[in-house]
Amino acid sequence: MTNTSRMLGLSRRHILAGLAATPALSAAFPAAAQTAGPHWTPQQTQAALKDAKGTKLVLLGTAAGPVPGRSRQMTSHAMLSNGSAYVLDCGMGVTDQYARTGIPFSALKSIFITHHHPDHNIEYGPLLIVGWVQGLPLDIRAFGPPPLKQMTEDFMRAYKQTVDFWAEDFHMKPLTAVNVQEVPGAGPVMQDDNVKVSSIVVEHPPVKPALAYRFDFKDRSIAFSGDTTPLEAVAEMAKGADVLVHETMYVPAVETYVRGMVAQGRPVKFDAFMAHMKADHTPSEDVGRIAQEAGVKTLVLSHLTPAIDSIDDETWRAPVAKYFKGEIIVGKDLMVV
Ligand SMILES: [Zn+2]
Ligand SMILES: [Zn+2]
Repeated sequence: MTNTSRMLGLSRRHILAGLAATPALSAAFPAAAQTAGPHWTPQQTQAALKDAKGTKLVLLGTAAGPVPGRSRQMTSHAMLSNGSAYVLDCGMGVTDQYARTGIPFSALKSIFITHHHPDHNIEYGPLLIVGWVQGLPLDIRAFGPPPLKQMTEDFMRAYKQTVDFWAEDFHMKPLTAVNVQEVPGAGPVMQDDNVKVSSIVVEHPPVKPALAYRFDFKDRSIAFSGDTTPLEAVAEMAKGADVLVHETMYVPAVETYVRGMVAQGRPVKFDAFMAHMKADHTPSEDVGRIAQEAGVKTLVLSHLTPAIDSIDDETWRAPVAKYFKGEIIVGKDLMVV
């Protein structure tokens, strides 16, 4: 690890923690300008799914970074197709949010992880255990970059006694093993009766591999950028998809925050920090360019950086709309797309 990356890694944690609740930044984007809250109610979500025809995407969590205590949850998504559910990413909150959709745990067929950062994987194990108590199929499958197999085995070993007590008490068949298939890079990931899933490798240093996924359902295709710097390959992967869910960084708000830290005498160098963020994440304008090049119908802005409620929808949308002429949706937790 270089001095720079060490410094930046540390700074990044600081900034992401700080971005959660910084009065200075909130003041810069007044709440009065908000057009809507950061999430749907479970009632809205359940009603939308009940009336749904065809494959639906539910944004379970739309915030970037492993920061607790925000209105938006960390990154996770559910897709519901023909009565089967698929979860992509397991940031903190995924289990509660999944439950709030009203989709039964017994419907969950497969879990996918884009990369091993805590805002994408920290609740993977808890989703398995609590989900099992709630009826998760014992043949649940999981897909993600190595070492997902080892991580799953280690987690199941750590909770073996817990699972065994519960299984004994409630006469349940214990969840002993999860069918894990590691995804080392680009290519086909899986196929079942409802969906064909493929992956590409994206650029999110130092994480290797970090993946983007495309889900081709019979009636609808949904692509996810995962966490990445602006990448031509994402546009290619998402070509002609109905929906692209892309991570989105609103640079002026990040800059405001970093300037605040510099002004407070914190050990952060503005240029170095912003260079790091741009090497790992995608500014709003580039999200628009990529979606336009991909020619998708609908672009969902998610993994919002910074995930501050006082940044209104129009502020998220405007820099993207300069380049993308299709439908733009500012992601909200529990929103059905
Ligand atoms: Zn992330
Ligand atoms: Zn990440």
